Amino acid sequence: MNMDFECKLTIPAETKEMYPIDGEVAKVVAKRNREISDVFEGKSDKLLLIIGPCSADNEDSVIDYISRLQKIQPKVEEKILIVPRIYTNKPRTTGEGYKGMLHQPDPNEKPDMFKGIIATRKLHMRAVKETGFTCADEMLYPENYKYLDDILGYVAVGARSVEDQQHRLTASGIEVPVGMKNPTSGDFSVMLNAILAAQNSHTLIYRGWEAHSHGNPLAHAILRGYSNMHGQSRPNYHYEDLIMLCDFYDKYELLNPACIIDTNHANSGKNPFEQPRIINEVLNNCAVNDRIRKLVKGFMIESYIEDGNQPVNGGCYGKSITDACLGWDKTEKMIFDIADKLK
Ligand code: PEP
Ligand code: MN
Repeated sequence: MNMDFECKLTIPAETKEMYPIDGEVAKVVAKRNREISDVFEGKSDKLLLIIGPCSADNEDSVIDYISRLQKIQPKVEEKILIVPRIYTNKPRTTGEGYKGMLHQPDPNEKPDMFKGIIATRKLHMRAVKETGFTCADEMLYPENYKYLDDILGYVAVGARSVEDQQHRLTASGIEVPVGMKNPTSGDFSVMLNAILAAQNSHTLIYRGWEAHSHGNPLAHAILRGYSNMHGQSRPNYHYEDLIMLCDFYDKYELLNPACIIDTNHANSGKNPFEQPRIINEVLNNCAVNDRIRKLVKGFMIESYIEDGNQPVNGGCYGKSITDACLGWDKTEKMIFDIADKLK
């Protein structure tokens, strides 16, 4: 092959031995898993806010950010369940650019995947230990899920991965809710087929094993907007889109019909300041249509300490180095506004 094999990486079992979860953390994980599944199973009518930076670029600022969410959670707990986004690996459209903590634990240093595997596990563990939150991450590389399977609360399959068989079959063996994003083309049937595949059981190759998955009844849709044939961003969170998704769900006869609205990406045209308005519109549609209210389980929001974004070497603490985010002050206001609206 036309590549150099640099070093053998630690395997999930070794990594978990080095950084094990203790009994206390295991209890938090079990309790959170129950609370999050209850939303997808319709046993709880809390709204999920899967919220945080586009990429978890720095351990300290991410923990700082999540600690701010922790202070808000008890004040809105009757109506809202917060799941912080800790996105440790980033898909890149052309392969160029920062690919996340997994590749570059220090965004200004060269890639080091050995350190990256450890850094991502340490960050997710710190989040649970210090804040009591289990978090969401993107499953960009299905084989890597096992490094974090005892600690993640929510998994997303990205717009560029959702058509891929290995992602779909791996999702069918995951115990926590997996959100399947619509592809960048916007085709709902690709997303629904991914959910169907994930809800069924399969035989697959996983980390050198022949494995049998049990199916994931909590696999569901995430609407993130799409690009049209001219490469322009188009939204898909409007009333008609959501009714169309309800109709698709009826036709596919899937378990636990559910949808998370990603309020950034092509839905906001990458303008993070549109996110509160988008949420407001969707909540208005929930209030007037019962099918939409039952379908929409929450929002995925890109938010960080500072507004906007910066180059990778920008050096501003708590400012995104990938997609532009809503800063903390606006985020805090938005969460309280949502809670007020749900009263
Ligand atoms: C993201 O959530 O930051 C992301 C990369 O999303 P998508 O797969 O929808 O582009
Ligand atoms: Mn993003």
